Amino acid sequence: EFVTVSELATMMDKTPTDIIATLMGIGIFASINQRLDAETLAMVAEEYGFEVEWVSAELTETIPEEEDDPKDLEARPPIVTVMGHVDHGKTSLLDYIRTSDVTEGEAGGITQHIGAYSVTGESGRKITFLDTPGHEAFTAMRARGAQVTDIAIIIIAADDDVMPQTKEAINHAQAAGVPMVFAINKIDKPGANPDKVKEQLSGMNILVEDWGGKYQSQEISAKTGQGVEELLEKVLLEAEMLDLKANPNKNAIGTVIESTLDKGRGYVTTLLVEAGTLKVGDMIIAGTQLGRVKIMHDEHDQVVKEAGPAKPVSILGMQGASNAGDRFHVMTDEKEAKAIVNKRQQLQREQGLRTTKHITLDEIGRRLALGEFQELNLIVKGDVDGSVEALADSMLKLSTEEIQINVIHKAVGQITESDVLLATASDAIIIGFQVRPSAGARKLAEKEEIDIRLYSIIYKAIEEIKEAMEGMLSPDV
Ligand code: GDP
Repeated sequence: EFVTVSELATMMDKTPTDIIATLMGIGIFASINQRLDAETLAMVAEEYGFEVEWVSAELTETIPEEEDDPKDLEARPPIVTVMGHVDHGKTSLLDYIRTSDVTEGEAGGITQHIGAYSVTGESGRKITFLDTPGHEAFTAMRARGAQVTDIAIIIIAADDDVMPQTKEAINHAQAAGVPMVFAINKIDKPGANPDKVKEQLSGMNILVEDWGGKYQSQEISAKTGQGVEELLEKVLLEAEMLDLKANPNKNAIGTVIESTLDKGRGYVTTLLVEAGTLKVGDMIIAGTQLGRVKIMHDEHDQVVKEAGPAKPVSILGMQGASNAGDRFHVMTDEKEAKAIVNKRQQLQREQGLRTTKHITLDEIGRRLALGEFQELNLIVKGDVDGSVEALADSMLKLSTEEIQINVIHKAVGQITESDVLLATASDAIIIGFQVRPSAGARKLAEKEEIDIRLYSIIYKAIEEIKEAMEGMLSPDV
């Protein structure tokens, strides 16, 4: 029993009487509101020259998100991540900003580590900081499909050089298309030489403003706080150019920042609202988990009833642990919410919830044929600088009218987990020249199905990529 006589009539632009008459013709006496079974339905439709197409009513695990009307959009604070080489001062900067923010009207300072916090700059505007520094965390989130960060602060110690992880951080931010503001740190130290840092950046084609370039930079000391307020203002200026907006007046959507199990309180989940307003009592789906917001706290450990765009809150009431980077949605229909969560958990059991299929060399030809492939992202790792540069250059030269080749990251050294995460987040293939993946990287690549190609002869690498682009590469067996 599917469709009533009157519904079928409407679909075919006939009157119910027409349909009843037709049914009589095949020996069925039906009333106007009678539901017809599949067979009858098909027979009647055929009489009028229609074909019945059965659309599977199978449950989906996706939650549609409506587009906002531009008039509903309001300015929102930027969300910022601090990245840089180890020991260059990421944690110190986040700590300094956290402890120096005692805004009027807000009780005490930021007392709770909930994974993100919001501060107010001198000009009165807010900035939200993600409290897990580093490009690994940033790219891990992206690999889960979450682009949370609006602006990256790249921190570089002025008593040191632009280091491999500095370059990596820059490449990860660029691969994500996230604008950067440079913080040149430790200028309180006697050996600090900010100019040397700027010069080294220029060697990477990154020109800061006082070198005539487009990147804002600020000399700071995360220890004394010198320059930090100016840095925040520069971040706000960058945010202004991005014109960040969200509609606060709808059911909240956003991202899971972290999730832990507290023995006494159950699952503690930090959510960062992207749009809409999250309220106590809201039913939410976060990744594969369902829950209801029982109580919300902010980073000042204050109880809050609502959280709008770019506001991080720690909530109680989830039934399980979500993953950092999972998307969350407020749901209004409990039955639908349960069905979606069931479906997602089932998918996760079956296939580890892998929804995106990553590019492999073998697949380029197929995707090309489908006409949906225009860019090939590569990550190039090698044993020495000369070979990395040579290989990256030759790869770039393989670009054709159909496919543009991008080398989103190149560096000397073995293939690391961070490289695989970047490949996952940016749908890239990793090319190793005289280097191998670490054990962790190999495992992760297997799980995420990232194609790692290892070569010991440069022309062999060039040849293979070229053949793949011509769709001629025979699949590995
Ligand atoms: P991270 O690894 O990037 O998070 O770096 P940390 O914030 O842990 O800093 C590494 C070391 O540098 C610590 O001993 C800090 O105390 C020190 N440090 C960080 N910023 C400054 C600064 O501006 N001036 C000085 N003198 N030391 C700093």
